[in-house]
Amino acid sequence: MPAKVDMDKIVSLCKRRGFIFPSSEIYGGLASCWDYGPVGVELKRNVKEAWWKAIVQDRDDVVGLDTSIMMHPGIWAASGHIDNFTDPLVECKSCHLRWRADAVEGKKCPNCGGELTEPRMFNLMFKTFMGPVEEEASMVYLRPETAQGIFVNFENVVTTSRKKLPLGIAQIGKSFRNEITPGNFIFRTREFEHMELEYFVKPGTDEKWLDYWVKERFDWYVKLGIRKENLRLRQHGKDELAHYARDCYDIEYLFPMGWSELEGIANRGDFDLTQHAKHSGKELSYYDAEAGEKYVPYVIEPSAGVDRSVLAFLVDAYDEEEIEGEKRTVLHLHRSLAPIKVAVLPLSRNEKLTPLAKEVFNKLCPNFVTDYDDSQSIGRRYRRQDEIGTPFCVTIDFESLEDKQVTIRERDSLAQIRVPIGELKKVIEAKLKGEAFDASTLWATRQK
Ligand code: ATP
Repeated sequence: MPAKVDMDKIVSLCKRRGFIFPSSEIYGGLASCWDYGPVGVELKRNVKEAWWKAIVQDRDDVVGLDTSIMMHPGIWAASGHIDNFTDPLVECKSCHLRWRADAVEGKKCPNCGGELTEPRMFNLMFKTFMGPVEEEASMVYLRPETAQGIFVNFENVVTTSRKKLPLGIAQIGKSFRNEITPGNFIFRTREFEHMELEYFVKPGTDEKWLDYWVKERFDWYVKLGIRKENLRLRQHGKDELAHYARDCYDIEYLFPMGWSELEGIANRGDFDLTQHAKHSGKELSYYDAEAGEKYVPYVIEPSAGVDRSVLAFLVDAYDEEEIEGEKRTVLHLHRSLAPIKVAVLPLSRNEKLTPLAKEVFNKLCPNFVTDYDDSQSIGRRYRRQDEIGTPFCVTIDFESLEDKQVTIRERDSLAQIRVPIGELKKVIEAKLKGEAFDASTLWATRQK
């Protein structure tokens, strides 16, 4: 399996098979904006659901939240985004293109060779206006992270959830950053989705919890099929830490363009709650009944990008194999992430097969995300399902009409077993939970 695949191959597969399309394509596209197609949207939902299940639903110390994208502008003054969320930029005096100062060597524009201005700070937050009048007083920002919506609701959540510390509050939602150098497909875009957890702990226990979350998050990617050798941890140097962070680790992935950040896990100390208390005039602290003391909790923040995770899962799953002299492209996606779980494929469009194939489809469809395809040769249909990472294909052939059995083909091993239609749902359920794909089950007979 290649350690790395070309980004072009991923982009082209995504377009060809309906994962991801360039946004506004019929109008010539819009730079670095992408639309998720029919199978892409399923994959993206599965990534978010896997995160939500692991972070919120499988634990009793984390609750969820869904806050608004536009918030009081004072929040961004308190968080430091108005002052600090900036990149130094230079502008070309002749073609007016802007460049990140640290990405340009010398004083000449990389595009036209023109003279560059001195660096100026450029804020990465998008601005818009709320209400009918476009004036300074009605200006709001589109959030560049979901975290602040969590901090400003800390009090609401603690009082209504009646939970003790350590307590996590999790959120998934859109964020917007006017990135200067977006690119590498969905790796860096100006509109993207965040999956963020703010885990509030007693000061003094923060280092222990940082270690805990770094390990949890690393293991999450591995459990969902990312090869360990393609992941690594990198601790931020003191000079590199964001203004709010006491310590920070990046989980990096070996993307086609090299090792790059997949997720950041930061110890934010009490920076955010203290700032919001100062700016809002509301006390934001926690009364620890057991210890009989009041304090401002520290926060550990694992912050991941949905789109960047989708890209990592796609890259890691991508493979080109040769099977009996024929090339096949396959996505070895973890079964819980695969957009389509099972495809029902009648051997041909023969009118005798269709009713039984439809009957099988109707049985499976309410239970699993199921595709029905009778369009081309069976070989081409298998190839299509391999390319979108469908773990199981169910084939209905003429024998099925007689013995009421169908063939299940497994994506990775290409093994096939024959199963009575009455058992099909149960079998697929078990296989999707990870049961071995072999003929050991009583009624299944292995096919050559
Ligand atoms: P980078 O250094 O790559 O700009 P960051 O350190 O600014 O990222 P954070 O603010 O820590 O990123 O955001 C957490 C996660 O959100 C990142 O690890 C990444 O997965 C995702 N993310 C951040 N910015 C973008 C973006 N412009 N496009 C897509 N995903 C992003």
